[in-house]
Amino acid sequence: MFLIKNLTRVSPSTSSSILTRFRNSGSSSSSSYTLASRFCTAQETQIQSPASNGVDRSQYEGLRPTREGEKPRVVVLGSGWAGCRLMKGIDTNLYDVVCVSPRNHMVFTPLLASTCVGTLEFRSVAEPISRIQPAISREPGSYFFLANCSRLDPDAHEVHCETFTDGLDTLKPWKFKIAYDKLVVASGAEASTFGIHGVMENAIFLREVHHAQEIRRKLLLNLMLSDTPGIAKEEKQRLLHCVVVGGGPTGVEFSGELSDFIMKDVRQRYAHVKDDIHVTLIEARDILSSFDDRLRRYAIKQLNKSGVRFVRGIVKDVQPQKLILDDGTEVPYGLLVWSTGVGPSPFVRSLGLPKDPTGRIGIDEWMRVPSVQDVFAIGDCSGYLETTGKPTLPALAQVDNISYSVSGSHFFLIVHFFYVTDHFR
Ligand SMILES: Cc1cc2nc3c(=O)[nH]c(=O)nc-3n(C[C@H](O)[C@H](O)[C@H](O)COP(=O)(O)OP(=O)(O)OC[C@H]3O[C@@H](n4cnc5c(N)ncnc54)[C@H](O)[C@@H]3O)c2cc1C
Repeated sequence: MFLIKNLTRVSPSTSSSILTRFRNSGSSSSSSYTLASRFCTAQETQIQSPASNGVDRSQYEGLRPTREGEKPRVVVLGSGWAGCRLMKGIDTNLYDVVCVSPRNHMVFTPLLASTCVGTLEFRSVAEPISRIQPAISREPGSYFFLANCSRLDPDAHEVHCETFTDGLDTLKPWKFKIAYDKLVVASGAEASTFGIHGVMENAIFLREVHHAQEIRRKLLLNLMLSDTPGIAKEEKQRLLHCVVVGGGPTGVEFSGELSDFIMKDVRQRYAHVKDDIHVTLIEARDILSSFDDRLRRYAIKQLNKSGVRFVRGIVKDVQPQKLILDDGTEVPYGLLVWSTGVGPSPFVRSLGLPKDPTGRIGIDEWMRVPSVQDVFAIGDCSGYLETTGKPTLPALAQVDNISYSVSGSHFFLIVHFFYVTDHFR
């Protein structure tokens, strides 16, 4: 059960100092924000003042600090498994919730691979934030902002954000600040490329719905194009060669989905090319190395049965139509999916917070970030500090049961991780 009681407010002194900062942030004056709303309405629009200390001092509109009598504001960065599970459980009679994320929905990642081959529809794996926490679109003090957090100022109790327009020019990049009473960083991790040349440009990751859409589009396109009259056999085989790099759970799961698709759908619907389509899984070490032996053997047997080819090797270079392994082997491909695990994102790396041994935001047993007040980190972006004596938790969606309690003046957060998913069920 989720219970948040008496979340401590910023002390009046802190509160007023934050207030002052917000007030003073514009070029003038006492009319910094409208009384009717919680938004600071700096009179100027995007005035650029000279940068100082490497920090962009541009002043923008923002969400001012809460005042006495208003609900305390919990700001959540990210709308993934961790952030959404947390927001879903917050009692919005007691707290206002503000979510900042470049994504207005949560992705049910374990089922993402199924959408690539049409087993599931994309809408089945995406849940809008407003359905997960309805207060966000109803309560006057709760909001969702489509933006990235770019900077954290723990002394001022505020985060700096920039709108996310996904390459569209509907709005020029707009910066704003949000004051928080409690901040929960749940910004996840980023796909690792290990700096290998050509991965970003030529491979497709499998982390978001748009990735799955791109994979499905390319797969179907290649199936159609490979049947073009007069196309060379070699080219046909390249187009129909699906390569997955990374033999972890996601790579293995996706390879399994692909081979099912080939065995069932391709044989029926694209019979002309059924003998030319293949799936190859490339892994530098053992497939599913973090799983127990019995499970690994079972998975490998199943994949072998369905025709997935395993190649042990290290990818050295990725070119538009082929990749090159460290022993010089060239592997032509029509579709390349990259799934070699995750690491800390540039945002997490940029934060001047304590880190765990793997570079994630360092937390104590209560998910608090020591050395800063009222800041918590959960999910893939966080890891226990060495001083806790606890091991780093795997980057998995097992943030399944979160509860809160209050002790003294602290906002405590207990996260229990349950191993809920069996990839091979
Ligand atoms: C294909 C796939 C299958 C998986 N299958 C399983 C499985 O079967 N079982 C399992 O346990 N785990 C699985 N996982 C792992 C699981 O999805 C992750 O562990 C989980 O998503 C982590 O949750 P999170 O909230 O920490 O991060 P995420 O879910 O990655 O969410 C991070 C959020 O933060 C946002 N964000 C990023 N940067 C910023 C910023 N600067 N400011 C604001 N917001 C930001 C992102 O847009 C996103 O909304 C799978 C992962 C993938 C990709």
